[in-house]
Amino acid sequence: MKRINLTKLLVMLFMLTLFLPTRLPMTEAQTPPPVTTDPRPRPNPVQTVTSEDVKLEVFFNTIKQGRVGLLRLSGASVTEATLMFREKESPFFWIEDDAFYAFLAIDMDTPARDTHEYTITVQRANALPDVTIVMPLTVTLGGFVRQEFNLAADRTYLMDNELERLEFAKLDGLLTVFTQEKLWGDARFQYPINSDITSPFGAFRVLNGTFETRHTGWDMRAAVGTPIGAMGAGKVVYAGLMDIRGNCVIIDHGYGVFSAYAHLSQIHVTTGQDVVIGQVIGVSGNTGRSNGPHLHWEVAVNDTWVDSVDFMAMWIP
Ligand SMILES: [Zn+2]
Repeated sequence: MKRINLTKLLVMLFMLTLFLPTRLPMTEAQTPPPVTTDPRPRPNPVQTVTSEDVKLEVFFNTIKQGRVGLLRLSGASVTEATLMFREKESPFFWIEDDAFYAFLAIDMDTPARDTHEYTITVQRANALPDVTIVMPLTVTLGGFVRQEFNLAADRTYLMDNELERLEFAKLDGLLTVFTQEKLWGDARFQYPINSDITSPFGAFRVLNGTFETRHTGWDMRAAVGTPIGAMGAGKVVYAGLMDIRGNCVIIDHGYGVFSAYAHLSQIHVTTGQDVVIGQVIGVSGNTGRSNGPHLHWEVAVNDTWVDSVDFMAMWIP
């Protein structure tokens, strides 16, 4: 008669637990807000300013740290325009049969106060003088949380300011060169996976009780091997290994909008490749500065990390 070897069974059960996806020991998981795919009409501006023949429409009252405000500029003579905020210049972009638009991306570190200003400089045809519009801006607190978590001993070498600085410098080089075209098309952006969002954008993180850093994206629950889809159409500008992000794919969606997908176990695209929305760019994993399998998903607009979940919900042209 065959007997069940209890010790053997227990060992097997223990082995099985090693392959279960590790839960991120962070904030409670949340279900992502639903995102419609239907084309939505342009919302009404909350403020309209006219100067000469130039009309500026503002689609926000205040902007939270780490979020984006939308501006629209129209007028028959307008040929080009730039937006200046805190010594950072970003271009207005032309949308066919519509108008010029700009994203006012607020860095998560921008002080929350009601005395900010942004300046719009408009160049016009027929030797007409430039139009300059200075607008007041209130930046409000992002409500960022504080999190502590631990890295395994073999990854603590990734808690290094110089290493982090070098990775941000590398990203900076990638995020400042973008396609002057709306590559995202007419479809709305979509989540890279159908899963819970776990750890929020902008969090103040303390690793192993000593190393302080900021979270530039959102984390999503994903066991190793989950296919990851592009949040929108675009061009792959990076597909490879980074120290902190591990295996990482970065997509240029045009006009200064980028998305990145980190800690992948496999990459399925190459640099320079065009992708469509939802196209599988790789599968999730646990590479780089990670404490368990998950997807780190982040969005940069005008070389500024912004709340990817919030950006996806915005109306954009
Ligand atoms: Zn993350």
